[in-house]
Amino acid sequence: MTVHGGRDEPDPERRRAEHAAGPAACVRVLVVDDHEILAQGIERLLRDSPGVEVVGTAATARAAVAAAAELAPDVVLMDYHLPDGDGVRAAAQIRSDSPTSKVIILSGSASATAVLAARRAGCAGYLDKSIAAGELLATLLHVARGGEAFEALGEVPTGDALVVHYQPIVDLDRAQLWGVEALVRWAHPGRGLLGPSEFLDRVEGTELIADVDLTVLAVACAELTRLHPITRGPPLTLCVNLSSWLISAPDFVERVRAVVQGTGLEASIVLEITERTMIDITPAVVAELAVLRSDGMRVALDDFGTGHSNLDYLSRLPVDVVKIDKTFVDDLPDSARARVLAQSIATLASDVGATAIAEGIEDERQLEYLRDLGSMLGQGYHLWRPMPAVALESLVARGPSPDG
Ligand code: C2E
Ligand code: MG
Ligand code: MG
Repeated sequence: MTVHGGRDEPDPERRRAEHAAGPAACVRVLVVDDHEILAQGIERLLRDSPGVEVVGTAATARAAVAAAAELAPDVVLMDYHLPDGDGVRAAAQIRSDSPTSKVIILSGSASATAVLAARRAGCAGYLDKSIAAGELLATLLHVARGGEAFEALGEVPTGDALVVHYQPIVDLDRAQLWGVEALVRWAHPGRGLLGPSEFLDRVEGTELIADVDLTVLAVACAELTRLHPITRGPPLTLCVNLSSWLISAPDFVERVRAVVQGTGLEASIVLEITERTMIDITPAVVAELAVLRSDGMRVALDDFGTGHSNLDYLSRLPVDVVKIDKTFVDDLPDSARARVLAQSIATLASDVGATAIAEGIEDERQLEYLRDLGSMLGQGYHLWRPMPAVALESLVARGPSPDG
């Protein structure tokens, strides 16, 4: 193990003070790699690059943590696999010891889980080792200026970039607002507001989707709390979509409770589960949903009729709401087949004591047909499109009348 301190070593306190004083003229880099030839290659590249100074190298996780504490580098270029542990864990330690040091993981392989772990550990980037020299340098400078580099994960939204839109759901018998479905959007810095079809597939492949679900739940709960005092008629119901990642997480119940508890909104919340992404319904999943139901929350089967095992879901899960998929609404009322299917699903829902919501109502004739079935809720562009919170607030305040 070698840690070469840079030339002309001042003490760590002075380094931190210098760092805090403002952006250094040179980006000070610590190179961590147990592969000697690779480490030398990176070092040589950086030493020849203006604006960058290699202040040290390390070949183990322990040495990296010690060197970072001593040298307070601006950026640590960290190998993922190290002889005494993984670089991500060392990165977490470095970030906690020296929060001004940014860490970029360099790895030969980039599974989404590894990239996410790096992100969670507070790393600023995750790069493939085959990255071109010029790109490595550019990324390093980008990260030193406060940027992130997680291209290995593909571009994904996090934090404030997540925006929630709300689609009203209407009680068709009473022609009154029953609730809203919270639908995630991504406020992309360059491409504007993106819908789920443009990014959710990628996020759904990783546990990041669970964070998306919980962020949407938290934002929507805050919005509903704002709306309740100005809502005319019964309190609004909030439907949120849950991913299979969140449902199968060992701390699923605790994570949902952590968001909802204290809001007093339990009885207003419907947790939508879709078979499209759903995993096995294990006894644990059933028990966890029962716990959330005992808190007052309800469970909905989303996109009903589109999966392979709808009836299995209906018989094994505690279901309060069945959402009839748009594909069954599209051909109403002209197609006899569509009418039979819509009626059957509505009857099935009612027979198991669930409320039926028809999705994707796009015209007046569909609406009339579904209204005539009785005891039906509906959502769709003909009633309202999903809208931002501010539009929902004015809709609720003035008292809704669908504008289809
Ligand atoms: P979904 O849960 O079935 O939501 C209904 C989708 O149908 C929404 O699409 C909505 O905008 C769209 N829709 C509603 N009425 C009409 C209509 O009359 N015509 C047509 N053509 N479409 C209509 P959106 O917002 O693009 O969401 C797509 C899917 O993304 C959702 O389908 C849901 O599965 C997923 N999703 C959205 N937000 C979240 C989230 O926070 N977490 C998770 N895990 N999934 C989400
Ligand atoms: Mg849904
Ligand atoms: Mg749906």
